[in-house]
Amino acid sequence: MLHILKNEEPQFLTDFKKKHPKKDYDSEEFAQYRPVLKAELIKEQKGLCAYCCGRITHEKSHNEHIEPRHPGKYVSNRSLDYTNIVASCNTSETCGNKKENHYDPEKFVSPLDENCEEKFTYYANGEIVGDKYTIDLLNLNAYELKNARKSVMRQLQYLDKETIETYYMNEENGEYQAYYNVIKWFWKTM
Ligand SMILES: [Zn+2]
Repeated sequence: MLHILKNEEPQFLTDFKKKHPKKDYDSEEFAQYRPVLKAELIKEQKGLCAYCCGRITHEKSHNEHIEPRHPGKYVSNRSLDYTNIVASCNTSETCGNKKENHYDPEKFVSPLDENCEEKFTYYANGEIVGDKYTIDLLNLNAYELKNARKSVMRQLQYLDKETIETYYMNEENGEYQAYYNVIKWFWKTM
């Protein structure tokens, strides 16, 4: 997980809420803004899923409400709260799709928590270790994710700190490399 520093609420969202104070994310009126919102979030997250830190594209991602949009029968009143929305990958078995409406705010480590990165470490076999509730809820030790992280670790293992910094930690066109969480963690432990 990487800490996501939220930008100011985008102007279009502020304007929408002013114009339609009673409408929520699910409303017909908001439908046309969903992709606009997603584009903002992907940019904010430098092209990575909020939870697994895999690469996301506009087509293969969705707007993910940290506090679920449908915690019960009704739409949450935070459905258009910018500080409650991130972009998640669309993998069916992990991240936002796995989390669905299950969420315990007391237990969940959110990528918006300033110290969230300190709650997880990574093993050479690609396993993520740390807050069990969050890892299980998002299924962050899914086979594919473990493999992807393992392959990043393998690329880094014989490199020195400076090389990693130069070739793996620079943003390219405003994007981080996939699994930047692992890269950053590895670099920090050197
Ligand atoms: Zn993901």
